[in-house]
Amino acid sequence: LFVSLEGGDGAGKSTQSRLLGEWLRSLGHEVVLTREPGGTALGQMLRDAVLHGDHVDARTEALLYATDRAHHVASLVRPALERGAVVVTDRYLDSSVAYQGTGRDLGADEVEQLSLWAVRGLLPAVTVLLDLDPVLGRARLTGDPDRLERAGDEFHRRTREAFLGRAAADPARWLVLDATRPVDELAAAIRERVTAALAV
Ligand code: C5P
Repeated sequence: LFVSLEGGDGAGKSTQSRLLGEWLRSLGHEVVLTREPGGTALGQMLRDAVLHGDHVDARTEALLYATDRAHHVASLVRPALERGAVVVTDRYLDSSVAYQGTGRDLGADEVEQLSLWAVRGLLPAVTVLLDLDPVLGRARLTGDPDRLERAGDEFHRRTREAFLGRAAADPARWLVLDATRPVDELAAAIRERVTAALAV
């Protein structure tokens, strides 16, 4: 089973992927917890380039994310799924469609096609959107902001709307949750959806 968590910065994706992973392990599943960008060693280099590089224009940014994702899927995600593991990723291609496609105005359809090409069409069975006002999300972040976290409110507002629009268009894949709800309630809602997907 392939599960992705999406949403803005500070929405709680990494907390929820950790809790989901612990629960799945307690049921006896092999679980691979991973993230984009940076789920592999090469991906870490690409993450550093895209978040801290100089003069990274929108197309370069989109291609760096696509490269990270292609390598991530080919070397880690697909082999894990093939041996029956549950893979939980903190961000996947919907982040690119929202951030580069809509946020950076490269076009949602073009970026989706690029991403699907990179991963040979692999989509998660379940995608959880932890939806949060970006102003609240930023307030929750600790540490120095990276280049993208410093992008303006308007950029982050557009990416939020893009996530919500994609989720509304494909409710069979997406579970939209209000990220201001308590951590344990969110975790329970995610477990319920993942349980249903495991039964299919
Ligand atoms: O979630 P994480 O901290 O790994 O994301 C790193 C940064 O990259 C965040 O600022 C996020 O908004 C941004 N990002 C992006 N486009 C993507 C994925 C992440 O702009 N496709």
